[in-house]
Amino acid sequence: MTTLYANGVIVTMDDVDAEHESGWLLVDGETISSVGSGAEPLAATRVDLRGAVVTPGLVNTHHHLYQTLTRARAQEADLFTWLRELYPVWSRIDAEAEYAAARTGLAELALSGCSTVFDHHYVFPHGREGLIEAEVQAAREIGVRIVASRGSMDLGVSDGGLPPDELVEELDAVLAETERLSALLHEHGPGARVQLAVAPCSPFSVTGRLMEESAALARRLGLLLHTHLAETVAEDAYCLELYGCRPVEYLDRLGWLADDVWCAHCVHLSERDIAQFASTGTGVAHCPTSNLRLGAGVAPVRAMLDAGVRVGLGVDGSASNERGDLFLEVKQALLVARGRDGGAALTAREAIRLGSRGGAAVLRRADIGSLEPGKCADFAVWRTDGLELGGASDPVAGIVFGGPHRVDRLVVGGETVVRDGHLANADETEIAKAHRLQARTFSI
Ligand SMILES: [Zn+2]
Repeated sequence: MTTLYANGVIVTMDDVDAEHESGWLLVDGETISSVGSGAEPLAATRVDLRGAVVTPGLVNTHHHLYQTLTRARAQEADLFTWLRELYPVWSRIDAEAEYAAARTGLAELALSGCSTVFDHHYVFPHGREGLIEAEVQAAREIGVRIVASRGSMDLGVSDGGLPPDELVEELDAVLAETERLSALLHEHGPGARVQLAVAPCSPFSVTGRLMEESAALARRLGLLLHTHLAETVAEDAYCLELYGCRPVEYLDRLGWLADDVWCAHCVHLSERDIAQFASTGTGVAHCPTSNLRLGAGVAPVRAMLDAGVRVGLGVDGSASNERGDLFLEVKQALLVARGRDGGAALTAREAIRLGSRGGAAVLRRADIGSLEPGKCADFAVWRTDGLELGGASDPVAGIVFGGPHRVDRLVVGGETVVRDGHLANADETEIAKAHRLQARTFSI
C-alpha cells in the first residue's frame, strides 16, 4: 500500500523548514513514511508530480459553513449592522440546508488545498435538529477532516445582547447537547477525522455564565474551546459598557486565556494583550479577508508571531468572505501584514506556515500540518506550469504571490480528495445545483 509522489518541490514545514527540490514523498497507507530527494525509494505505485510544489494540506481554523447560503448581503455594513441584518435570515437554517451549505463550503476549501476544516456553528433555531451531524456527513463524503463545534448564543437583545431573543438558547440545553455530540462524534488521538470543539459565539451574544460553564464542560470532556474576540472597535466599547473592561480582560476573568483556547480575529489587541496570549498559550485564528470586508481592521500578526502566539488562518463564514479559498487567505495574510508593518513583515514561507503548521498548532494537532515521517499523509500539490507561474524564479514564493490557485491534487490521510483539479468523491456541478435550490429559500 505504498505510493511514491516523486519529482516535486517538497515544502515540509518541519522544524528546520526543509525543502526538497526534485524531491519525493513516500506514503504508506494513511501516513507519511519518508520525505527526501535523490535516490527514490521503492513503492507499489509511483506518481510523477512534474515539478509541482507540494505543501502540507492547509488547515482552516475559523469558518461558518452555513453562511454559503447568504452571500453578498449587507454589503457596506460593519459587523454589528451586518449581524443584525443576517440573524433573521440565518434563523431559517435546517439540517437539509446545512448539508447543502457544508458540501459547498467544504468543496471550495478542498479545491483550495485545505485538508482540515474547523467550523463554528452557533445558530440553532428551536426545534431544528441534526445540524452538526449534517456537516460532519458532508465532510466524510468529500473526504476532508472536520473539527465541528457546538456553538451557542444565550444573550438575547432583551438582556443586552445582539441576537434576537428567538435565536438564543437555554444554558442547560446547550451544555447537554454539547455533551451528546461529543460522545457521538469526537475522535481522540492521531489521525482523527472528526472532532468536536466547544464554541460559545462572542462576548456580545453569550452570558459570562455560559462561557464559564462551557469551559468547565470542555475541560471535563477533553475538548478545545473557541470563540470570537476583539474583532471590532465597537466590540471594545460594548465590553467596556457591559463588563467594565476590554475583551481580553473579560476573557481572562472567565478563565478563557489558556492553552486549550483559540479565538477568531483578535484584530484589536494591545501589546499587553499579545503578551498575555503568548504567556497563556492562547491561540488566534487570523481571518484577513473577512476583517477587510467588514472594515474591522488588520490584526497585528507580525507582533503576535514575534511574541510566540499560536496563529493559524481562517476564511471565516462566506457571508463576510464570499470566497472560501484558504490559499487566498495565505496570500492575503502576507499582503495585510505588509500593508500594516512594511514589505518585510511576512515572508511567503511564513504565510504558508500560518496556513498549515500554524493552523495545526491552533487546533492542537501534532499529527498534521507538516510533511514528516509518522505524520498523516495530508498534502496539497500545486502545479507550476500555468500562466501565473511563468518566469517565477522561486516556485514556492511564486505560488503565494501568484495565488489563489485551484489545487491540482489534495490527499487526506493517504486518500485522494482532489485529482486533476476536480473533487474525487463528489460532483461539483451537482453540489452547486443542490446548493442553489436550498439558497433560494433564504432569499424569499
Ligand atoms: Zn466568525
